[in-house]
Amino acid sequence: MITVLEKPIPFGGGIALPPNKAISLEQPLEKAKLPSLIKIPLRQHIGSPAKSLVKAGDLVLKGQLIAEAQGYISAPIHASTSGIVKEIAEHAMPNPSGAKSTCIVIEPDGKETWFDDQAPIDDYYSLSPVEVQQKIWQAGIVGLGGAGFPSAVKIIPGLSLDIELLILNAAECEPYISCDETLIRNYAKDVVTGVEVLAHALQVDECVIAIEDNKTEAIEVLKEALEQYAEIEIKLMLVSSLYPAGGEKQLIKSITGIEVPAEGLPVDAGIVVYNVGTAVAVKNAIIDDTPLISRIVTVTGPGIEQARNLEILFGTPINEIIEQCGGYSDQFEYLIMGGPMMGFRLHSDNVPLIKTTNCLLAAGSEPQASNIKESACIRCDECVAVCPINLQPQQLHWHAKEFNNDRLHDYRLFDCIECGCCSYVCPSHIPLVDEFRLAKSNIWNRKRMQLEAEQHKSRYLNKQARVEQLKKDKVKKRTAVIDEKANDKLAMQKKQDAIAAAVNRVKQKRKDREN
Ligand code: SF4
Ligand code: SF4
Repeated sequence: MITVLEKPIPFGGGIALPPNKAISLEQPLEKAKLPSLIKIPLRQHIGSPAKSLVKAGDLVLKGQLIAEAQGYISAPIHASTSGIVKEIAEHAMPNPSGAKSTCIVIEPDGKETWFDDQAPIDDYYSLSPVEVQQKIWQAGIVGLGGAGFPSAVKIIPGLSLDIELLILNAAECEPYISCDETLIRNYAKDVVTGVEVLAHALQVDECVIAIEDNKTEAIEVLKEALEQYAEIEIKLMLVSSLYPAGGEKQLIKSITGIEVPAEGLPVDAGIVVYNVGTAVAVKNAIIDDTPLISRIVTVTGPGIEQARNLEILFGTPINEIIEQCGGYSDQFEYLIMGGPMMGFRLHSDNVPLIKTTNCLLAAGSEPQASNIKESACIRCDECVAVCPINLQPQQLHWHAKEFNNDRLHDYRLFDCIECGCCSYVCPSHIPLVDEFRLAKSNIWNRKRMQLEAEQHKSRYLNKQARVEQLKKDKVKKRTAVIDEKANDKLAMQKKQDAIAAAVNRVKQKRKDREN
């Protein structure tokens, strides 16, 4: 039985960071302009890419299904505007390596004509939990707060396992990012409805919306919306604004005191966590029957002329979004997708906006002080004190440098959530989190190569075995032919002998009669 605590408790570790959110919250939320071209990647999040259902020259309508999910962890994709499919081709993606992905490229016709197959409903209770889950799946909803895990996948266990608690994550703890706060300020009623729909889909009685205690305006708006519209009990919990309070496991610990084991999932503890943006997407999918085709994105940082939040269609080129925010300022150094702590540097702004883009941070000389020189570890243990997972980053640092994978495993490298707290406090300016990301990726690559080598070896051995078998079969066949010939010869000989014997017997009889 899960108990929601009266007051949140500290999650352990973490750091106080300047929020830097006011700058983007000053401007009202607006819809971004319709871009000149929409490039919708078939791979937008973890899991398998979707499979295109359209071809160049096709007319597509807004909200139309244009790519189907492939596999369990995958999500369908819908056209974010109406227009003509110009091509299906490889284009650069917003990822750390700049690697390309196949995109459906749509030339907008400017009409924004909706696909006319929608069937809005008022009473979501008329749908069974399974029907709600299926509609969430069909709407292409993925988690809008992190890696973009397809949302329906989290609900499926709810139908077979015992989910007791639904947590709505509105903590948005990383500096600069204010898209969830903007969403709450503008769509608080939809947040409440989305929570209720999710509670129905999961069949849970206990729901909590968790928000950082320093988001005063959003808290007030949420309180009013809950009073006015909530039909089930939804608790509002104000959690610490210490970073990374919004981490899934940190939030669960603050609210329930439960520590989800490193290798475990919240669902194993009977808890499901969704981002508030996901809740609104669920409300849109179930009540309005509209798929996920846009999201709110924070465009901010010292390197942008006009920081703000915009509601943007998926596939919109990032350089057109930057233009709409007045372009880069003279302080601009580089562009980050995500926040300063967990985001990554983009190689180019000529890439499309995808489902997991929550923030575009145009960095100036800060927030990532890349030109400060790194020095040797002084074993001060400051990194240990701030690690929310209770790891020993300084030990990980030594073993990462020595490529000692066994020791990296011993020191739980793969439990690291890459929050960056250790790098932030390190007086020697060691880029600890970058080292850990690299070490993880090296280990994954090595494992992948090992797996590939094993597969090659197994294919080679199978081929050898087949060749050997073929040889044996040939020998067997040849021996059988030789044996058959020998048998035939023997049979023939026997026959000839029998005939000769018969002839001799006849000759003998004739001789006997003549005598
Ligand atoms: S904070 Fe930096 S210098 Fe201090 S122990 Fe950790 S890695 Fe070493
Ligand atoms: S990046 Fe990893 S090691 Fe560093 S503080 Fe965060 S969880 Fe701990």
